[in-house]
Amino acid sequence: MTRPDDVTGASDASPRTHASVRSIGAGAPVLAFDVGGTDIKSGLFDADGRVLGLRRSPTPQVEGDKTSAVIEQLGLLAAEVRAEHPEVQPQAAGLVVPGIVDADAGLGVFASNLGWHDSPLRDLASARLGVPVAFDHDVRAASWAEHRLGGARAYENSVVLVIGTGIAGALLVGGEPYTAGGYAGEIGHSPVADGPTCACGARGCLEAVASAGAIARRYRDATGITPDGARDVIARAAAGEPAASDIWDSALDALTLSLAQLTAVFAPEAVVIGGGLSRAGDALFDELRTRLAARLSFHRLPVLVPAELSGNAGLMGAALRARELT
Ligand SMILES: [Zn+2]
Repeated sequence: MTRPDDVTGASDASPRTHASVRSIGAGAPVLAFDVGGTDIKSGLFDADGRVLGLRRSPTPQVEGDKTSAVIEQLGLLAAEVRAEHPEVQPQAAGLVVPGIVDADAGLGVFASNLGWHDSPLRDLASARLGVPVAFDHDVRAASWAEHRLGGARAYENSVVLVIGTGIAGALLVGGEPYTAGGYAGEIGHSPVADGPTCACGARGCLEAVASAGAIARRYRDATGITPDGARDVIARAAAGEPAASDIWDSALDALTLSLAQLTAVFAPEAVVIGGGLSRAGDALFDELRTRLAARLSFHRLPVLVPAELSGNAGLMGAALRARELT
């Protein structure tokens, strides 16, 4: 499973992180950690809900026991921020991770890039940090933050899609996340075509056709030219370049097919789209609205809205989950 929110071009490795973390509102102070395959975002949210000591640090890359290395890193990050802000006493911590996550059992079931299998991450983190730990999937936590504070807040039934290197998703049903033991929401791994082969091993997953990573890769395979991310391919398509147009068109069709199926089966009021590809703006949203309307008939069309919390929704979701323990 890839980490979807960090990619389409180098500029996404973002110093903007600091400016764009909103207050989560008043409540108990909590620590928050958003662990990805390449980096860990961390921060201490104070009683006003503002983040202190926000950091983006590399995920430890070790042979062998990656779980212990990550837990140890969380302990060091917590000690650092607590030393900087001794006046703020966290009452709990939130930890969110990618992959297949059993939040109720506190297990990281599987994450290909983090190398764990059924790791009891919640209990290990709680022992290391000395506070109760709320544990969840990164994109589900992000969708919870979008529901509470961001683009999905007006809707009880919504889908959050994060389109970057891969495509991750989460479903909100009746105002609550629908998880199915961690297996629900894998919209990126729903089949939309006969190929190409996906990183997950299946064929024709949405992610393999329409993620920002796939768009750039497919353009390179077709032309021998390495584009500057998906946005470069989209710009080339807008300029009328045939190879770029074909790839962008097929990506939009694949996304439309997935959204049409979701609309028919689950009828979300809103689809919130974040990740690097969402920064394509109208080139993405207007096209998807038009194609989705053309594809369907009596169905209730969802509103398509951009995610509002940028790359920090996962961290904010972790903090919101931690608050629930206090
Ligand atoms: Zn797949």
